[in-house]
Amino acid sequence: MTFRRIEQAPDNVTALVRVDFNVPMQDGAITDDTRLRAALPTIKALQAKGCKVALLAHFDRPKGKVVPEMSLKPVVEPLAKLLGSPVAFADDCVGDAAKAAIDALPAGGVILLENTRFHAGEEKNDPELAKQMAALGQIYVNDAFSAAHRAHASTEGIAHILPAYAGKQMERELDALDSALGNPKRPVLGIVGGAKVSTKLDLLRNLIGKLDRLAIGGGMANTFLFAQGVEIGGSLAEKDMADTARQIIAAAKGKCELLLPLDAVVAKEVKPHADARMCGLDDIQADEKILDVGEKTIRRLREAMKHSHTLIWNGPLGVFEMPPFDQGTVIAAQDAAELAKAGKLIAVAGGGDTVAALNHAGVAGDFSFVSTAGGAFLEWMEGKTLPGVAALH
Ligand code: ADP
Ligand code: MG
Repeated sequence: MTFRRIEQAPDNVTALVRVDFNVPMQDGAITDDTRLRAALPTIKALQAKGCKVALLAHFDRPKGKVVPEMSLKPVVEPLAKLLGSPVAFADDCVGDAAKAAIDALPAGGVILLENTRFHAGEEKNDPELAKQMAALGQIYVNDAFSAAHRAHASTEGIAHILPAYAGKQMERELDALDSALGNPKRPVLGIVGGAKVSTKLDLLRNLIGKLDRLAIGGGMANTFLFAQGVEIGGSLAEKDMADTARQIIAAAKGKCELLLPLDAVVAKEVKPHADARMCGLDDIQADEKILDVGEKTIRRLREAMKHSHTLIWNGPLGVFEMPPFDQGTVIAAQDAAELAKAGKLIAVAGGGDTVAALNHAGVAGDFSFVSTAGGAFLEWMEGKTLPGVAALH
């Protein structure tokens, strides 16, 4: 994928760096600093080039007004500690005070600018606001892939004014996504699960045009099974989507092999440690619900992984929050991780619940790449152009 990288940026300039510091906070204290740590490689790379680093970020949803509880100030100290160098702060992400504070920084100095969303122009992608931000530096670096599906002043507008580069985290994400879908080593296998077909229609349509095989699991598989005449009892399904499911099956013909579940784990109640049994698709009772894929399905999925070079995964295969219905997802995740660790499979996954499920399986670290970008990751899987990424070309 072609985009400009930090190595190509000039030395000794002021870089405006868009980061994702939308961290979970409780009573003014950060409860998870993953996003701060993720920004360190970019900050350090720019420091090593003698650049001043001015960080742009949004926090929460102040909706274009100054909301003191949504200040980024509480981020300053934790960031400085992680970085091992001081971090200054400016009360506004534009204007004379911010300019003066940046001017006062030494080479390699770092400053965090206040919440971009305190300005109404941020989410409107107001060119005037973008211009005011751009006036504070000579180059722009975007390291917030997770905000790249939004065309805002600090994620998109500004990239048209200053020379724009991808930060280290953005670069890692884009390279991983490219290796999974853009320019993958074939055969490519997809796994799509989750609750509903309706939330993942664009994603399914995009994937059948790009993958060699697509395994469908989770609640959404029930809709496909129902559409094919399987008695699915009281399973979660969108029966009004049956036609759509059949259209997807037809569209995949000859292009992408669809792997629908071969068996199921069913129970009468959706609760942890409910009485469950494994059964064939012809044996689901009216008062039973499909809550996970069964052994045969998992075994075939394992074979499909072994015969693939690349795996792209979004959506759990069952109700992974409640054991024993986590087993299909856990075993498939372990299989993928094992192949990835052995260098036999490029395994890329993403999605809020998918990340939680891989963490629950204890294998997220063995995947080639796990995206925590949520909405941006899903839009990318849908084949959409992400404005924040497009602006880096
Ligand atoms: P992601 O956040 O990774 O994109 P989704 O939000 O689409 O994933 O799907 C996750 C949800 O799907 C989980 O809450 C899980 O319990 C649910 N789910 C998976 N399989 C089933 C099933 N057979 N019946 C009901 N819900 C299911
Ligand atoms: Mg979800």
